[in-house]
Amino acid sequence: MDEVLNECADIAVGHVADYIPQLSEVDPSLYALAVCTVDGHLYHVGDAGTEFTMQSIAKPFTYALALHDQGLEGVLEKVDVEPSGEAYNEISLEPDSGRPRNPMINAGALATYALVHGSDAAHRRQRVLDFYSAVAGRDLELNGDVLDSELKTAFRNRAIAYLLRNAEIIGGDPGEVVDGYSAQCSVSVTVDDLAVMAATLANGGVNPVTHAHVVEPGAVRQTLSVMLTCGMYDSAGDWVTSVGIPAKSGVSGAILGVLPGQVGIAVYSPPLDKHGNSVRGVVTFERLSADMGLHIMSGPKATSGVMSEAYVADLADGAGQVSVYEIQGDIRFAGAELIAREFIDNPPQTSRVMIDVSRAGGFDDVARRIIREVLRRLMSQQDRDVYLVDPDEYLGAYSEEEEPGDGADVPEMLAEAGDLINE
Ligand code: GLN
Repeated sequence: MDEVLNECADIAVGHVADYIPQLSEVDPSLYALAVCTVDGHLYHVGDAGTEFTMQSIAKPFTYALALHDQGLEGVLEKVDVEPSGEAYNEISLEPDSGRPRNPMINAGALATYALVHGSDAAHRRQRVLDFYSAVAGRDLELNGDVLDSELKTAFRNRAIAYLLRNAEIIGGDPGEVVDGYSAQCSVSVTVDDLAVMAATLANGGVNPVTHAHVVEPGAVRQTLSVMLTCGMYDSAGDWVTSVGIPAKSGVSGAILGVLPGQVGIAVYSPPLDKHGNSVRGVVTFERLSADMGLHIMSGPKATSGVMSEAYVADLADGAGQVSVYEIQGDIRFAGAELIAREFIDNPPQTSRVMIDVSRAGGFDDVARRIIREVLRRLMSQQDRDVYLVDPDEYLGAYSEEEEPGDGADVPEMLAEAGDLINE
């Protein structure tokens, strides 16, 4: 991280946002980078203590909260998920439905804000702030000066909000929506906060520092999807191909990126390119993605080695033989398919079959279903005794009739016969 920062620090192109004094007067040389792992370890370099406002980086988080409050259908009714290829403050609503194209441009973010539940304006605003705080794992605060300036200059956002009101995408007072949206833009954070917020999304919605479950997995997936396709405005395609990390930028000069299952990343450097994305921030992400192999489409390498052992062992006292299958690693679709295919291509030749998943790291839902089906089919064969070693109940509970044997006596019989399991 130090190396990346040193190499990119010389880049002196771009201009800081100039529509409010708090942004135009900022030191353009400020530069910070933070990375938070999904187990909550935080690394940072540069001016990591500097506070700045979230600006548009707030948008995906309000979207996640709206998804929680309204459900996916309710949100899609009001805000579409199509990349607009337009600037962040474009006045663009779909011709027929009046829906903003996506939640990452201002039109969509204003509509999204209006979808958050609240008994009144203050309650809605507080819920948004509380939610951001839970995602960040600390009590975040508004920068009141930035908010005042935002409100004094929010003419374009007001225009968009009135169009949304006219198209009946929002109800009530458009002014309140602009106020609340401006407040969410004015939440003060550091790169550390943003890295933890990103890591919460990377970790399936569980804050890796506080362990609080703050976003449902479905809302995380939806939010990351729109970040990937729409998060970098009119340079979204360029970003997906060159960096390949779901991300969101803000005019304060920050960029937040989420690599699902791995890390949350945040960069801060105020000078912006013509799209409103931090110049050094973009280069930093390009460097990190290339150096650390973080492009989402580079993908994990093909699943292999899920079946660590498959062998036939003799049982004691001439009780015959048992085919033992040991499964290891984190089993998802591709791993489960490999295991299922092994049973189809090479059916066990003994009447006793033992499947041992005690050393697996876990099964996702589809893998669990596939392996249970493998067991069910084995058990439905005549003269077959099936044992399952699953002390952590990775494969879930079974009813009495369909439960495979637990094979408790098998290791003993093997030991007596001199065929030690795992040898
Ligand atoms: N406050 C800014 C606006 O709404 C935020 C825009 C951004 O960060 N891209 O215009």
